[in-house]
Amino acid sequence: MERIETDVVIVGGGATGAGVLRDCALRGFSAVLVEKDDLAAGTSGRNHGLLHSGGRYAVKDTEAAAECIAENRILKRIASHCVEETGGLFVSLPEDDPGYPDKLLAGCKKAGIPAKRIGTSEALRIEPNLNGDIRFAVKVPDATIDPFRLCAANVMDAMGRGGRCLTHCEVSGFLVEGARVAGVRAWDRRGGRDIEIRARVTVNASGIHGLKLCRTAGIELPMYPSKGSMVIIDYRVGNVVINRCRPASDGDIIVPGDTVSLIGTTSKKIPYEDIENLTVDDDEIEVLLADGEKLIPNVSKTRVLRAYCGVRPLVGAFGPADGREISRGIVLIDHAERDGMAGLVTITGGKLTTYRLMAQYATDLVAKKLQVEAPCTTSTQPLPGSELKIPEKKAVKGFSGVPRSVVGATHFRHGDEVKRILSDDPDSYGLVCECEMVTTGEVDYTIKNQLVTDIIDLRRRTRLGMGPCQGALCAYRAAGILNETAGVSGENAIGMLKGFMEERWKGIKPVLWGDALREMEFSHWIYAGLFGLADEPAPPKSAEEPTFDLIRLEKVEDE
Ligand SMILES: Cc1cc2nc3c(=O)[nH]c(=O)nc-3n(C[C@H](O)[C@H](O)[C@H](O)COP(=O)(O)OP(=O)(O)OC[C@H]3O[C@@H](n4cnc5c(N)ncnc54)[C@H](O)[C@@H]3O)c2cc1C
Repeated sequence: MERIETDVVIVGGGATGAGVLRDCALRGFSAVLVEKDDLAAGTSGRNHGLLHSGGRYAVKDTEAAAECIAENRILKRIASHCVEETGGLFVSLPEDDPGYPDKLLAGCKKAGIPAKRIGTSEALRIEPNLNGDIRFAVKVPDATIDPFRLCAANVMDAMGRGGRCLTHCEVSGFLVEGARVAGVRAWDRRGGRDIEIRARVTVNASGIHGLKLCRTAGIELPMYPSKGSMVIIDYRVGNVVINRCRPASDGDIIVPGDTVSLIGTTSKKIPYEDIENLTVDDDEIEVLLADGEKLIPNVSKTRVLRAYCGVRPLVGAFGPADGREISRGIVLIDHAERDGMAGLVTITGGKLTTYRLMAQYATDLVAKKLQVEAPCTTSTQPLPGSELKIPEKKAVKGFSGVPRSVVGATHFRHGDEVKRILSDDPDSYGLVCECEMVTTGEVDYTIKNQLVTDIIDLRRRTRLGMGPCQGALCAYRAAGILNETAGVSGENAIGMLKGFMEERWKGIKPVLWGDALREMEFSHWIYAGLFGLADEPAPPKSAEEPTFDLIRLEKVEDE
């Protein structure tokens, strides 16, 4: 067993955990983040990627709306390479309450959101694909944010300052010593070994899994999972974020994201046991497509690429456990105060948009527990990739032989880091994924700098396999590169290829008709027919994994 000692251990590599790791590193605390899967593999990678202006919350929750607009402005500065400043519109259809736009404008004013009512012809000029029947339009500073880049940039920055990040490492329980959590016990899936991390403070940033983890220290959290599904359509049906101007409901947002558009979302309470086996239901897809089409009629003519879902952890932290006092806002729990369990902090709820603020709250509490005065600087320190804010035109000029489109795509994804990714050497800009213009240089860079260990991790860092072909023409190339340059054995590279195709299949299956069906047949023909992948065995497991129950027994022995 490996033993690590640190000031802070953070469980969960979503946006919140990644933000806490960076904040700790900036304040000079030694910190280790442990993530059971990959960065942004949980809810952080399963949302719309909408950088809220706060407009969506302005009528019902002024506090949340004000948090959103403040963080929206900060992230546009410090994470500019993860943000696309699309702008946003709230639009009313003939059947919507005509009184709602005034309520929205009043709410925005109260929360400090610069919202402006515009004429419908102006709205149609901004977004020509909009339904021509709209009655009202309000312009807000919504934007989009790429959660994968955001998490990777936070972790990269933290690692550059001495922070550690262990991905594919599952925390199986807290180390409990009397009335104190003294760290965590984790299982390294890739290395097949136990790790014990002793820490002065443990931060639980494991999202919806927080309840399961807290139970290993005998703590109950009133946490209720609410599933939201989304569909991805093949191209950008719009260039701004479109919100339906009515109280939040299913199918009322269309968000452009890189080369595609997303329609979201639904909201369904699900039993806690179901969080490991999430599925998108047919009725959700029907609602999303029908309502999406009302906002942008072209939706009906556009191929649906895939469907996916995420889980909101709704927490009744300080209310009764019947769910009436559930919070969708930021929840910070000092378990010393709430449960008499020292050394443990839970940070959850909130939004992707407010991840930095959540990390600040959690790290302020960590600093208090460590008895160190160290102010938070994350609102002013830009993330790697957003330091120099090199404009695309200037980036393109920096390379003589590389096609402009390739520099543009790389710059869009990695900002200033483009200088470290591409060079005039043709080996750096050969295309691995044509749909998203991912180059060998980008693959190599993410393997070396961004904790990429398999093809699915690579997809999250680069968008490889996320375009129209959904991996059909690039996944095997990625497997080959991992085998040739990253020390992955041939057997494991084939296992990874299988894992990647199965993961793509999960998202395609719910929308398998028309062009998606034809594309899937084509992929199946390549991978199962031509390469014989279906007959390959799954990669060998390194060792038996411990269960949560096992650790609970050990906890009793510890006490
Ligand atoms: C459908 C939907 C749409 C949304 N849309 C938006 C949006 O457009 N804009 C916005 O601002 N917000 C949005 N949100 C909210 C936002 O996605 C979440 O608030 C945010 O991503 C939560 O991040 P997190 O880091 O707290 O949790 P998570 O991202 O869930 O991170 C928790 C991490 O902990 C890891 N973990 C769990 N257990 C363990 C363990 N035992 N050991 C190690 N690691 C573990 C998980 O693998 C996971 O990576 C949306 C949410 C949903 C559900």
